[in-house]
Amino acid sequence: MTRFLLAKAVDVVNLQHFVGAQQLLQLRSFTTSLAAAQDALVLKARQQLEEIRSAGTFKVERQITTPQEASVGVLDVAQPVLNFCANNYLGLSNHPVVVAAARKALDTHGYGLSSVRFICGTQDLHKQLEARISAFHGTEDTILYPSCFDANAGLFEALLGPEDAVISDELNHASIIDGIRLCKAKRYRYKHMDLIDLEHKIMEAEDAGAKVKLIATDGVFSMDGDIAPIGDIVALAHHHDAQVFSDECHATGFVGATGRGTDEACNVPGQVDIINSTLGKALGGGTGGYTTGKADVVALLRQRARPYLFSNSLAPSAVAASIAVFDLLSSSSALRDKLQENADYFRRQMAAAGFSIRPGRHPIVPIMLGDAALANKMASAMLQRGVYVVGFSYPVVPKGTARIRVQLSAAHEREHLDKAIAAFKDVGKQLGVIE
Ligand SMILES: *Cc1c(COP(=O)(O)O)cnc(C)c1O
Repeated sequence: MTRFLLAKAVDVVNLQHFVGAQQLLQLRSFTTSLAAAQDALVLKARQQLEEIRSAGTFKVERQITTPQEASVGVLDVAQPVLNFCANNYLGLSNHPVVVAAARKALDTHGYGLSSVRFICGTQDLHKQLEARISAFHGTEDTILYPSCFDANAGLFEALLGPEDAVISDELNHASIIDGIRLCKAKRYRYKHMDLIDLEHKIMEAEDAGAKVKLIATDGVFSMDGDIAPIGDIVALAHHHDAQVFSDECHATGFVGATGRGTDEACNVPGQVDIINSTLGKALGGGTGGYTTGKADVVALLRQRARPYLFSNSLAPSAVAASIAVFDLLSSSSALRDKLQENADYFRRQMAAAGFSIRPGRHPIVPIMLGDAALANKMASAMLQRGVYVVGFSYPVVPKGTARIRVQLSAAHEREHLDKAIAAFKDVGKQLGVIE
């Protein structure tokens, strides 16, 4: 293809100065090639969409027409349905105290900040929330991010260089994987929750002369409800002079006796070096994420973490609502206790009915089906019976392990659980999943 822009014309802003007959021709071909480029992009997108559809993994988004609660309205579904697929573990997504705090902050602190933190985007509220989170986890300092995805994306690159190593569980969340991809440290991947393989990889990193050896794990794995053996991981780290990072998105607020998270559940409170978590799940479900840990580490993140430096500050209403959430959690463990009761009850009843459930006590309860089509069929049948659950299959979970992932909430009452269990039994029998 011939060159369009003549060297002399490149810096000419006003086309009139250089559009002669020849250039006009070229301009036309430029416009056509632009259109062609767009077509190539659209074509490529279309091809990929087709692949996703034919693999049967195309995700359709249902529209919720009400706040996120135990029972929600769904567009094109006649009756409200019981919601068993939200991360609304503590039932705080539409809690009156939380909503009131957000509303009040709109009046006192406005809607948005139109700035990043280090220019003019830090309000008193941000510092209050950061202090509140540090107090909750018993850590020295906390840095807020627009999301936990950002907290994970910013962490590794800011802290680790080529002389360091990061040793990561193979089933870690996508955002941890992406964050590690962005950093220059040597990467090691250990088998899911396999301590022997983990130690093996730590020693490989040692042999390679790694300065910092950072072990990275989800505290709770979202597809299985597996709780990482953080106590053993911390012990291994101590022995090998390594550090531990845990992503507590499916733990903060409700895992452990007082909801402090995986470290509390595994009897090593305060011994995880770096914790990332989200404000977008159990803690009101609005938006925001954070890193909490040692003061110097957090201070360095404020200087270096790119999603912190180059993305807008959290909205004041979300920050104020989150402060209200931590106040609620610190004053009582009632919600956390109710959630645990709900999880235990549901797990017991479903196991007794003959369903294959991954054992444990987490409010993520995967009902194992194996077959992807069966999982989708079961989810649809459940929705028709007024229970909203979602089937997960490859590539979100390994092949042959398709499942329905049920998530319990403190917002569920016993009658909600009984209705869901009854529906599961009916549908399960109908589809030959149980006898
Ligand atoms: C949801 C989730 C995230 C992302 O959190 P956001 O605040 O929604 O960006 C990160 N890690 C894990 C393990 C999660 O489950």
